[in-house]
Parts: sequence; structure tokens; C-alpha cells
Amino acid sequence: MIKNLPKMLDIWEKTLHWQPNTLQQEKLQKLYELIITGNRQFNLTRITEPEEFWEKHLWDSLRGVAPEGQFMSLLNNGVSVIDIGTGAGFPGLPIAMIFPNSQVTLLDSTRKKINFIDDVINNMSINNAKTLVGRVEEIGQEYEHREKYDLAVIRAVGNVSICVEYALPLVKKRGLAIIYRGSWSEEENASLENAVELLGGNIELIEQFTTPISESMRHCLYLRKIKNTPIHFPRGVGIPKQKPL
Ligand code: SAM
Repeated sequence: MIKNLPKMLDIWEKTLHWQPNTLQQEKLQKLYELIITGNRQFNLTRITEPEEFWEKHLWDSLRGVAPEGQFMSLLNNGVSVIDIGTGAGFPGLPIAMIFPNSQVTLLDSTRKKINFIDDVINNMSINNAKTLVGRVEEIGQEYEHREKYDLAVIRAVGNVSICVEYALPLVKKRGLAIIYRGSWSEEENASLENAVELLGGNIELIEQFTTPISESMRHCLYLRKIKNTPIHFPRGVGIPKQKPL
């Protein structure tokens, strides 16, 4: 028997000025159940307790697209989103579920994770999400994907300059990349500035906050694409990680 997620309506309200309606609560519960069930087979996440799952997967995913505690209005307007290294679907699946007008592509290099997400999408009839299997270093060089997204989100995929090199090539000019981080340091700030400059971006906002239950440290980096990314980025498979910018 899978437990119920806490509703946390007051915390949603206080932190995001929003509350999930009954249908949305049911959908988030269903997602939780599918992930807990899938975890037995696929080892998707170590965050399985309802309260922790609510905070670290659901709240955290949605807080990233609510800079300064307000959902970005573009999410209601047919925005194209790519979640790079989505794993079990975070932050992309909650974004797709709560913003049905967004078109969300969930990218991961691991076929079994993408197969699991395909099952979730079918089971829950999430019509505005689709999956993509591949390495982002290659996807970022494909005409179909390069500079095609209004918004790229990336959480827990690598150090900051790797995330910048993965994300900015996929973003359209004037679009946005959001890098989800935990802690943040001066050294990271220096490598962020360097990578953003090389990839054609601008640091619009670095937001620090804590999660509402465990008070864990979070930073979200909002990067605006201001120029086309030079064609030699992203570099070949494995290079961004071996030789970070
Ligand atoms: N974003 C999810 C989250 O925050 O829960 C999953 C994070 S998981 C630690 C990192 C994921 O990134 C893995 O599923 C891995 O397969 C994927 N990944 C790592 N490098 C990648 C690459 N170069 N291209 C595409 N996916 C990649």
C-alpha cells in the first residue's frame, strides 16, 4: 500500500502563491505512486518518503520555475521546455502536469529511465510531454533541437559549467535556462560567469532560498540567452565533463 502525499496547501500558498486543485493533487499522488512502484524495478530515486518526495521532487521542481515565488507567466502561453538529464522526470514532469499549455521534452541518455517516463506519460495521459533518448552533447548540435526551446531546465546533472554548456545551446535567443543547484560558492560563480559569456548568455538572476520543510539550501540560476551560441558548443560527448570550461 503506497502512502498518501501530504497536501501542504498552506506551504504552496505561502511559497508560490498558488495551490494545486483537487485534480492536480490527484495527479501528483498518481505520479508518486508510479515512481514508488517503478523504483522497485528501475532504481529511480532514493527519495521515497511522502514528505521528502513532496519537498525534494515536487516542490523543488516547481519552485525553480517560480523565481521570487511567482510562476513565470510564459508557462501558460505555449512555451517549449526541455528538461536535460530528467532522470525519473524532475523537474520536467511536474512542470508539464501543472502547465498543460507548455510543451515539455524530457531528455535523458539512459534508455530505461526514458522507458519508465514513457509509461508514466501514457498511463497518466500527459499530452504535452514527450521523451528523447540521447546525449545532450549530440542533441545540442542537431538542427531539430539547437536553439529551439524557450526554456531549458537542468537539475543534478553536473557542475555548473557543464550545465551551462548543456543547456544554453538548446535555448532560443531571448529564451531562458534555469540551473537548479543546492549550495553555491565563489569559485562556482567565477566558472558560471566564464561559461555563460562563452555560450552567449547573461546571468539574469541568482536566487537563494531554503526548502520549506527541511530548510535545505537551494540556488537557482536564471540565464538569459542574448547571442547565438558559437557552433563548437556543446563540445563532443564527454568533453564538457572531462574538460569543464
Ligand atoms: N534531473 C533529475 C533529478 O534532479 O532528479 C535526475 C538527476 S540524475 C542525478 C542525472 C541524470 O542525467 C541521469 O538520469 C543521467 O542519465 C542524465 N545524464 C547525465 N549526463 C547526460 C548527458 N550528457 N546527456 C543526457 N542525459 C545525461
